[in-house]
Amino acid sequence: MKSKLLSLLAAAAFCAPFAAQEIDVYVSVKWVLNSAGNRPLGLWDNEAAVQSAIEQTNQYAERMGRGYRYVVIEMENVSHAPTSSWQYFDLYFDEFKLLESTAKANAAAYFWRTNAVNIYIVNSCDNSGGLAAIPSASSCSGSQEEIVVFKVGMTPELLWPHELGHHFSMIHTFDDDGCADTKFDPELSCVADFSCTTGGNLECCCSTKLTLLNAQNYSATDKNNLLYNVMSYYGANDCVGPIQPPHDWSSILMTSDQLDRWSDATRKYCQLNGEVSGYTYFVDKTFGGTSTGYSTSPYKTVQSGYQVASASPGNILNLRPGNYAETLTFTAPVTLRASRGNATIGQ
Ligand SMILES: [Zn+2]
Repeated sequence: MKSKLLSLLAAAAFCAPFAAQEIDVYVSVKWVLNSAGNRPLGLWDNEAAVQSAIEQTNQYAERMGRGYRYVVIEMENVSHAPTSSWQYFDLYFDEFKLLESTAKANAAAYFWRTNAVNIYIVNSCDNSGGLAAIPSASSCSGSQEEIVVFKVGMTPELLWPHELGHHFSMIHTFDDDGCADTKFDPELSCVADFSCTTGGNLECCCSTKLTLLNAQNYSATDKNNLLYNVMSYYGANDCVGPIQPPHDWSSILMTSDQLDRWSDATRKYCQLNGEVSGYTYFVDKTFGGTSTGYSTSPYKTVQSGYQVASASPGNILNLRPGNYAETLTFTAPVTLRASRGNATIGQ
């Protein structure tokens, strides 16, 4: 499903000077220094390279058309005091959440932020290119479910949006990702029987998993929703080549359901609330249940959504397709967006 930017015929009167609100996602990047006080060396060992990775990620975000963009608020070095931070220079899996708890307990030295995504760049990362905690409902109590870690030397261009996807509750397409428009992904078979010897567990059996995917007899859309999905592993190790032109496909990167889940996560999980400058609220005139504004429980009228979304600046109201026969007066700035088809108001 190609994201359709707003196609809306509302007679809305915006009183603010901006009409195309972006939601900023704040990012705080930290290098973990070794015991000699040096940064890990690799592709992302300097400010310009990190900024470039963020800009690339923003190009993906822009193509997905939901109005989100990453903004780097700082880039810092983490060195020894008050704890031996250099032990995380080479990060083992069992230290992943430990780094988060240590950073929270020593927020000043580790530059741990509650108003930004905390990204730590390390020398090695337990044979992974990156690790990110997927939030859960219980994590507001202080459990460790927020940190994002990147290995300094990894090259896959999709690593940044992939790990940041996890951070905003995205699950691999080959697991139960909670999204109806990503069908069963046979990459799962590679997990079960990855007899690969090079390239890592899922990445190395490209031909096998592409054969398995083709055997599903999916429609082109269903197939490509997996093949070109940032939360699948088909894009890794050149199974399908870099997920960008000329390999383009209109539904690449994330599906509509994934993007909705991403937006919902920023509201749903308190540890993510401060990392964004605004939220997306959903409206669907056909919804019959109790409305809370999530994609799964949208408001039923633009008016009811607007009342909530306009209470603070910087929010987006995402309308499901259809005509909303309402007469509205907007007195506060809200961006209206329609991501699944045309929405009209007042006809
Ligand atoms: Zn992953």
